[in-house]
Amino acid sequence: MLSWEQTPSLEPMRCCRAWVEINLAALRHNVQQFKGILPASTQLMAVVKADAYGHGAVIVAQAALHAGATWLGVATVPEGIELRAAGVQAPILVMGAVNSPEEMQAIAHWRLQPTLVNPKQALVFSETLAQLDARPVGVHLKLDTGMARLGFPWAEAVDFVRFVHQLPHLKIDSLYSHLATADEPDTTIMAQQHQRFTTAIANLRQQHLLPPRLHLANTAATLANPALHYDLVRVGLGIYGLYPAPHLRHRVNLQPAMQIKARITHLKQVPAGTGVSYGHQYRCDRPLRLAVVGIGYADGVPRVLSNQLQVIVKGQLAPQIGTITMDQLMLDVTHIPNLQEGDVVTLLGHDGQHTISPDDWAAMAHTISWEILCGFKHRLPRIAVEQPLPAPATAHS
Ligand SMILES: *Cc1c(COP(=O)(O)O)cnc(C)c1O
Repeated sequence: MLSWEQTPSLEPMRCCRAWVEINLAALRHNVQQFKGILPASTQLMAVVKADAYGHGAVIVAQAALHAGATWLGVATVPEGIELRAAGVQAPILVMGAVNSPEEMQAIAHWRLQPTLVNPKQALVFSETLAQLDARPVGVHLKLDTGMARLGFPWAEAVDFVRFVHQLPHLKIDSLYSHLATADEPDTTIMAQQHQRFTTAIANLRQQHLLPPRLHLANTAATLANPALHYDLVRVGLGIYGLYPAPHLRHRVNLQPAMQIKARITHLKQVPAGTGVSYGHQYRCDRPLRLAVVGIGYADGVPRVLSNQLQVIVKGQLAPQIGTITMDQLMLDVTHIPNLQEGDVVTLLGHDGQHTISPDDWAAMAHTISWEILCGFKHRLPRIAVEQPLPAPATAHS
């Protein structure tokens, strides 16, 4: 596939149809907000997996490191390689499972740091490194304290750490775990997971096996409770300017970094009674001015939001009508005068007095904002911009 970065002839077409705008000033601001609630001894990992939640991994990594993050977190080895190939030097934790010798070799070659979740995996990794005659690799041991996803059983932490400790070629850099309910107002389960993590730590300390770094918190936990900060916090969603839950809004002022924009490609008057788009799910009850916009579900606009979306056109809200198609969607713009083909439509973001957030889409689509952000496909070029941030409307505690 052609890449926008590598193909000069595509460059002038970047904003012809639809694109993702990433405000670097917002990214830096959000990183600084998190730095502001962390003690100096706690480092900030910017989680940039899934192409930085759809924002573009390299530009986000660079902005986050510039603003004070010192670690990067990815899910897969290729995601880590993309950062290294772009010249990123910061330590990179691969949070997903790594089992194949090919992945292990790539980790050594690109100086990535893997997550290990059982002794056998650690042994194979150590043997692979021995064959390569590679330098020792920093590894991160993950405990399952109640998420039931990746991780060694927390109650057996001492055995696990002791085993990895005696392997050549591996240097334990951290011990970590992940919380299942950090964004919920009821903290019962989170407290239980925290307790298990604390118990594992106490047992390890007693055996003089405590790894040099401990971490537990995602965005929600970082906002919920300073006792969860430890030596490092792994912040994803918050970097992008969204809150994991309404009750966690008060500690930091976050600014959404992503806007989704597209152009009107066709304008026309249609008579009353016109059926619009596939299935004629919308029928005009009056004559209306209809705008076709060059963005669709193949770009990441959820089709399930057909006939529910509002977008912003010249500072005014306009309803989306008819079924959202793969590459295009339609608007009723009867009430907005003087439009022309080529005018810009804001699907997510702000224009004039109006703002539309991924949280709005997530609520309508019965999903979470994380999934909305990750849904924007590579057909949309990512355009980095520097936009001034709105002054905070309220004082923050
Ligand atoms: C994705 C992920 C995070 C970041 O989660 P947010 O809720 O987006 O902050 C942190 N830790 C692990 C292990 C993850 O997989």
